[in-house]
Amino acid sequence: MTAFADTLRSLIALEGPITVERYMGLCLAHYYGTRDPLGQRGDFTTAPEISQMFGELIGLWMLEVWHGMGRPERIRLVELGPGRGTLMADLLRAARLMPDFLAATSVHLVETSPVLRERQKAALAQSGTAVTWHDSFDDVPGGPLLVVANEFFDALPVRQFLATDRGWCERLVGLDGESLTFGLKPDPERGLGNPIRRGDVLEWPAVAQSLVRSLAQWMARESGAALIIDYGYWGPAFRDTLQAIKGHSYADPLTEPGEADLTTHVDFHRLAETALRENGRVYGMATQGDFLEALGITARASSLRQRATPAQADAIDKALARLTERGAKGMGELFKVLALSHSGLETVPGLALHPLSPART
Ligand code: SAH
Repeated sequence: MTAFADTLRSLIALEGPITVERYMGLCLAHYYGTRDPLGQRGDFTTAPEISQMFGELIGLWMLEVWHGMGRPERIRLVELGPGRGTLMADLLRAARLMPDFLAATSVHLVETSPVLRERQKAALAQSGTAVTWHDSFDDVPGGPLLVVANEFFDALPVRQFLATDRGWCERLVGLDGESLTFGLKPDPERGLGNPIRRGDVLEWPAVAQSLVRSLAQWMARESGAALIIDYGYWGPAFRDTLQAIKGHSYADPLTEPGEADLTTHVDFHRLAETALRENGRVYGMATQGDFLEALGITARASSLRQRATPAQADAIDKALARLTERGAKGMGELFKVLALSHSGLETVPGLALHPLSPART
């Protein structure tokens, strides 16, 4: 048992069972705050860690959106949960093609983990761009904005409700002796609608929704666009998607609290709906494979291959296949992409305008 697990159990013993949202929040703060979880020797690998092409193409996306915005003289480039800083470093390198864009740019990283902030500092030391760190998106100063979040929303805590014979109950984490265990609390006051089938699970991403609301309101007030990429679906799914990953394998979410990555799959429909309600324009959702292909990943791979050794060319081919692979297990299909923008933007690269978006103003 770790000291964190002890603290968590004492907290539950004292206060009673806690919501899944609070459990995820506490565990993830400890998990990210105490380690770099990325890469082969860590717990999971993300798209920017697989290939430089990912960050480069997002850089070109940002450049094009900046053009669409009328090339504002100052733009804040914000990344939510930048991990090792790899995506931002690749993005800024690709943006060198356009010195005007780089001159207009300041970088703002929203990151709570001190360990990962250090990694980001090292990755961006040579970028030649001013970088500022923030604990929360709400701390980013005003002005036009371009935001990217890769594998960030899946780390935001959700509440879970289960349809039972007694109606919707909230899933809680409590104690059974020394062990953590799931329990249920009847919660009839919540306006969740009537359960359709017993056993359905409703995931309530209040934290993610509040962030999307802030993003959309910011864009309505100033201007800008945000690109969200994550493991997810167009919901509702009515199932439990909470999972723990440790050392690249599935783990039990309660066995080693704070020592495994905890995620849920992102319901992009709910995020889109939240942005539309704030009068944001919404683009997508598309699969990561379709999105990267629309941005030209195949051509980018060919041009990298021309200057590569045979071993490097092989690695480029493998990365291309991994990022775009279709099918039930392929990153190209499991990962989805959604963008939002202020109402003055006509379009964004690689994604179709959602039909319920407000007209351009
Ligand atoms: N985007 C990176 C890392 C994904 S891991 C990549 O694609 O490689 C999730 C990242 O979000 C980590 O940097 C983690 O420290 C950060 N993070 C998780 N929860 C956070 C929160 N509530 N606020 C700010 N950053 C958070």
